[in-house]
Amino acid sequence: MIFNVEQETLPREELEAIQLRRLQNLCERVYANVPHYREQFIKAGVTPADIKSLSDLAKLPFTEKQDLRDNYPFGLFAVPKENIVRLHASSGTTGKATVVGYTQRDVNNWAELMARSFMAAGATRSDFIHNSYGYGLFTGGLGVHYGAERLGATVIPISGGGTKRQVSLMEDFGATVICSTPSYGLVLHEAAQQAGVNLRDLPLRIGIFGAEPWTDEMRNDLQEKMGIDAVNIYGLSEIMGPGVSIECAVAKDGMHIFEDHFLPEIIDPVTGEQLPEGETGELVITTLTKEGIPLIRYRTRDITSLNYTPCKCGRTHVRMNRITGRSDDMLIIRGVNVFPSQIESIILETEGASPHYQIIVKRQGNLDTVEVQVEIDGSLFSDAIKNLQQIEMRIQKTIKEFLGVSTKVRLVEPRSIERSQGKAKRVFDLRNESE
Ligand SMILES: [Zn+2]
Repeated sequence: MIFNVEQETLPREELEAIQLRRLQNLCERVYANVPHYREQFIKAGVTPADIKSLSDLAKLPFTEKQDLRDNYPFGLFAVPKENIVRLHASSGTTGKATVVGYTQRDVNNWAELMARSFMAAGATRSDFIHNSYGYGLFTGGLGVHYGAERLGATVIPISGGGTKRQVSLMEDFGATVICSTPSYGLVLHEAAQQAGVNLRDLPLRIGIFGAEPWTDEMRNDLQEKMGIDAVNIYGLSEIMGPGVSIECAVAKDGMHIFEDHFLPEIIDPVTGEQLPEGETGELVITTLTKEGIPLIRYRTRDITSLNYTPCKCGRTHVRMNRITGRSDDMLIIRGVNVFPSQIESIILETEGASPHYQIIVKRQGNLDTVEVQVEIDGSLFSDAIKNLQQIEMRIQKTIKEFLGVSTKVRLVEPRSIERSQGKAKRVFDLRNESE
């Protein structure tokens, strides 16, 4: 089922005509109302009148997270403050928060896009939606909340934490849809087990998971443990919050970006050039309808690719594939862009290798060298050296095949790579030190 059949199934030509009209209007609005953008347009030698086709998008300047910080708190707002009805903010691990403001129309649009998202996931107005996303300055909780109400479903605004109580309320109220991060989904499952509740016995039928990267393996795991259809949702506060894109339950193959509101591009994170259709790079989004804080060519730093082939659900809006990494983490090895997460997924798919690894990049003469140290799975360590060499060769070959770089893969003893409490440090780029 499709919430807004007219907009979500627009023929591509009509959709692009709407996008162009909205892009032109957007450029006029920010040029007139946001000093930062006027300066950036002038610096780039472009005026709103130069935008005559969608391909002219490439003439416009990028917006970075740093621009939001530099204009903290309200410098990028495009409407008078009295027209803002809500603020959200993302904390970020470094530096100042980034603040976003919504007009009443922005809030309404967001609710509609979340309602579209619910229906894409298979939900209807009869559903009981258990919302474990945090309520507050974070966009997750309220974004889901307004969308569930717009859909006409029943929303349970439980927010995060109090996991035991969450499980008993899911049971008592008969939740049919769970919204949370995928990792919290697993925590709920564990708590349910401890309480003697089998989530598969509840009426639960849909899981909408997002706000952190996850894999298809985890999808299968969650579907199996909860007896649900699990779909991936994407969003970021700078662009709106959750509901920028979502997978349809019909295909579960990439997230439809609501293109009547967002104009996506994929760029090479180093050169900033637009990449040809289907190639992997950094996702850049222009907000076409946002009034409070419209953003031109916002660099999300998320690495993905776009899929324009028709989807069997009937939606014509482009699909973005799972996020495979962050461009901040990208390494350039002998001119090739490599994401540690790509190496990680190759290691994870290799039998006999554990998820503990390190990537060490050095420079010998003028040549970059990469050594990938992987802990061998404990159960295999006693195996013959020959088998270990085979595993090393297999990983090496797969990396070369998929990423186009030569590496030296070395298996190391179980538990020999240091464990860290927080985010594990995986990459050691020693190139400057060895020069
Ligand atoms: Zn679809």
